[in-house]
Amino acid sequence: MSISSNTAETTFEEKLAGLDLEGRLRLTAETGRPAVFTTSLGIEDQVITAAIATARLPIRIVTLDTGRLFDETLALIEETEARYGIAIERFVPDEGAVAGYVADYGRNGFYESVEARHACCQIRKLEPLARALAGASYWVTGLRRGQSGNRATTPFSEPDRARSLTKINPLADWNIEDIRSYVAAEGVPVNPLHERGYPSIGCAPCTRAIRPGEPERAGRWWWENDAKRECGLHVAKAAG
Ligand code: SF4
Repeated sequence: MSISSNTAETTFEEKLAGLDLEGRLRLTAETGRPAVFTTSLGIEDQVITAAIATARLPIRIVTLDTGRLFDETLALIEETEARYGIAIERFVPDEGAVAGYVADYGRNGFYESVEARHACCQIRKLEPLARALAGASYWVTGLRRGQSGNRATTPFSEPDRARSLTKINPLADWNIEDIRSYVAAEGVPVNPLHERGYPSIGCAPCTRAIRPGEPERAGRWWWENDAKRECGLHVAKAAG
């Protein structure tokens, strides 16, 4: 399979579409190419971690420890490692870059402008993500079509040309009820913040609980007005 061939990409997409979660992950792993799964410890990602760990698939599990995560998220990393007997690789921001940001904008300068927010995400998320994905052919994510209008057309596989790899979204067609059913059936540990109104959990200062009827990601960077706000991790089409 080549990320530069539309025909091959379509075939791989069709194969993935016909499989269950474990099958999608196994098909990816069995290509023999390096695959990395980035987990934010959200409920979707916990389902993928459970599937990878239970089937013992050769897919690295990594997380971006931004230095601004909720205590509940940090505790869940350790709980998940103990539950499945796995190691979740932590990628942390460059200390010098963080110090420079604090000097330029203040530690919470991201509230002041979109530019300042993007600068923080660049240092705490995107640069560590680039290190985490270095050498990978596949990037497994927990993206779902139902998470936001911006993600409504998420395919099972898509080229991320900016990063020279293929994204695999094995939960693209799952709805939140599917996710909750899997968690209940398999006893998957989840972040207690979900029960407190946080369907999507990122950095603590940039995530709030949502109100009834709001979209799942409405609590992320809630002070910004752009309906398509993202942290830059999953905007490859715009970047490519
Ligand atoms: S989500 Fe907020 S705290 Fe986290 S990296 Fe982005 S701006 Fe910084």
